Amino acid sequence: MNVKQKEIVSLDNSFCIKNNNFIAFITKKNKNKSSDIILKETLMFKGFNFDNIASCNQIHSNRVQFIEKSGVYQETDGLICSLNSKLILLIQTADCIPIFIIDEINKLIGLVHSGWKGTRDSIVQSALSIFFNKGSKKENIKIYLGPSIKKCCYEINEDVSKYFNDKYLISKEQTLYLSLIDRIKDDILIEGIKSKNIFDSQICTMENQEYYSYRRNDNGRIYSVMGYK
Ligand SMILES: [Zn+2]
Repeated sequence: MNVKQKEIVSLDNSFCIKNNNFIAFITKKNKNKSSDIILKETLMFKGFNFDNIASCNQIHSNRVQFIEKSGVYQETDGLICSLNSKLILLIQTADCIPIFIIDEINKLIGLVHSGWKGTRDSIVQSALSIFFNKGSKKENIKIYLGPSIKKCCYEINEDVSKYFNDKYLISKEQTLYLSLIDRIKDDILIEGIKSKNIFDSQICTMENQEYYSYRRNDNGRIYSVMGYK
């Protein structure tokens, strides 16, 4: 196979559309190559056009936009598009949770950045409401939760914990930990998505050295990418 497999995690075999025109992947940490370079090389290798990328200037909001053109969207933490628009969505994270959403039947895809603020403000539900408004049915939606800091490592203080129900907090030796993933999963289940359609990478970015982690003082970012050509 190609050398690129070491630089990205392809989601083709988990929850995704089985089609050569479809792409979904996460970049891994790399000493020699920025995520930008890995993105460009991967798209070129797979025959996708870099000009079709749509990304956002993320601000830890719960704002999600339905888009029809490439470019950089301001003050936005989630993008949704039709497969027919042939856009390539891009979200950047390092410990926050990248959320991939697909409705293959209704031909919609979405990518969301959910940190503690976005999770507090239920950004995944903002995204799902757009899917439903565009005609998606609950049973056709599949969601993948990418590598992020997990409850094993995500230490928080009371300024953060006060926004979350006790069921998402873990107290260990006078330290408080938060499970953002469990809150997001509950938000998704409340919307009627089946648990069998929720996929979790199970990877903790702070523990796994193959991914960038903000709390481990990495400067780089994990790129989450999904698109169609
Ligand atoms: Zn951990």
